[in-house]
Amino acid sequence: MILGNGRVFTNDDNGRVFANGALLIDGDTIQEVGDFVDLCRKHPDEEVIDVGGRLIMPGLINAHSHIYSAFARGFAPKNPTRNFLEILENLWWLLDKELTVEDTKYSAYATFSESIAQGVTTVIDHHASPHHIEGSLFAIAQAAKDLGIRTSLCYETSDRDGALIAQQGMEENAAFIRWAQQEPGDMVSGLFGLHAAFTLSDETLRECSRLARELNAGFHVHVAEGVDDERLSLERYGLPVVHRLERFGILGEKTLAIHCVHANDEELDLLRQTNTCVVHNPESNMGNAVGTSPVVKMLEKGLMVGLGTDAYTSDLFESMKVAKILQSHALGDPTVGFSQALTLAMKNNPIIASRHFKKPLGRLMRGAYADVIVLDYDPPTPFNEATAGGHLLFGLSGYQVRDTMINGRFVMKDRILLQKDTALLMAECRKKAKALWSRL
Ligand SMILES: [Zn+2]
Repeated sequence: MILGNGRVFTNDDNGRVFANGALLIDGDTIQEVGDFVDLCRKHPDEEVIDVGGRLIMPGLINAHSHIYSAFARGFAPKNPTRNFLEILENLWWLLDKELTVEDTKYSAYATFSESIAQGVTTVIDHHASPHHIEGSLFAIAQAAKDLGIRTSLCYETSDRDGALIAQQGMEENAAFIRWAQQEPGDMVSGLFGLHAAFTLSDETLRECSRLARELNAGFHVHVAEGVDDERLSLERYGLPVVHRLERFGILGEKTLAIHCVHANDEELDLLRQTNTCVVHNPESNMGNAVGTSPVVKMLEKGLMVGLGTDAYTSDLFESMKVAKILQSHALGDPTVGFSQALTLAMKNNPIIASRHFKKPLGRLMRGAYADVIVLDYDPPTPFNEATAGGHLLFGLSGYQVRDTMINGRFVMKDRILLQKDTALLMAECRKKAKALWSRL
């Protein structure tokens, strides 16, 4: 098919923009990107989908989220919650313990529906449901398949609830990674999930490392998010967090180190040397008041830093904008943050995703997966190669996304999700959320 007759922002190496462009899509893959009239002339027999002058761009990649937090919206912790550790204890570690596999599946429906609606076509998720671990990742994968979204999943192994639950976490990761590696197509992949260094013993880290090596899998782990992760690592093990993870072979190009707010210079250098990916989550860092991630310094040091939402939102456009203003604000310099925010979301997220999927994502170019979004956007100023970044940061939001295509198939058209009745899904989510709150 030809998808075109709109402004096309390719996000390819040259950031090409076509004033009236089109994509030629064959199956799950983009075959050609070019001028709409030229492509129609060259391929007269192709079905043409006319976007009526709207903006066509690649689907966005969320490099870190938690579907398990979907039912927290509107819930207020009962106990006083004054710092990050208390947020974990009074909110997340209460809620996740009550999630059944069915709750997990509906939490995934909620998060993935919003993601698709806001133009996110790949979600890299980090899951926890410590009293119902077995089958939880498979339930999330089923929800993703039902809605047609691309995902990388993992279970957050932790010793916080004892040895048995840690063991179950490892088993769920291993079983899921094995399954995902054999699953036909390229819609789902698995990482080995770790909560964070401060909830993992040396024995557990050693075992996780052994299992992941056997499976040739990378890790997905929170690193130095709060100051306590660093403090506890130094107190208990005499090593900074990143160095402790390195000791167990956790770092590497397939590993995602989330946050790294409090990582020191030596730790950042070690992340760089091991080619480990870092994922920045600006709204989450601000909301949890954990500090400001040294994103500008990380990029200057040559680290591969991507952008996630940590489930604060599913709208990557929002996170991009907040990433920009947070760096400007924190460094007291309005000239920093703009290019860095775009680098994280538009350049590095596609590179990070390419370490987990077989064809390029997040770019409209020959050979890339046809993960494409169409937005209602009639720009008030010129939209071209030089100005596209300004439009992405200050002109667009997830709510302008009208159509979402993933793997060459429309999963949302005219803002209606095509695979499932979202009204029914959300009604069931509200029922499940209410029941879950009554148990907290
Ligand atoms: Zn997180």
